[in-house]
Amino acid sequence: MTNCLECKNLTRVFESKLATYLAARSAALYRISTEFAAQQQVDMERAKNDVEEHLLICSFATKVRCLTPVPAFRP
Ligand SMILES: [Zn+2]
Repeated sequence: MTNCLECKNLTRVFESKLATYLAARSAALYRISTEFAAQQQVDMERAKNDVEEHLLICSFATKVRCLTPVPAFRP
């Protein structure tokens, strides 16, 4: 990874939102909370965009550009 604190913070936020989204998504498979999962997906993608936008301007992040692939949510 990089030595950039902002990268670490943004990535940590993204990963926690991704974990929440994946949990909601598996719950949605049982038709419990499709809307909740969709909302978590929005939050997660926003966090992912935050990471990617920061990486564009971050002087530390020259190599690491690939985030965890995110499975598509299909209600
Ligand atoms: Zn950075």
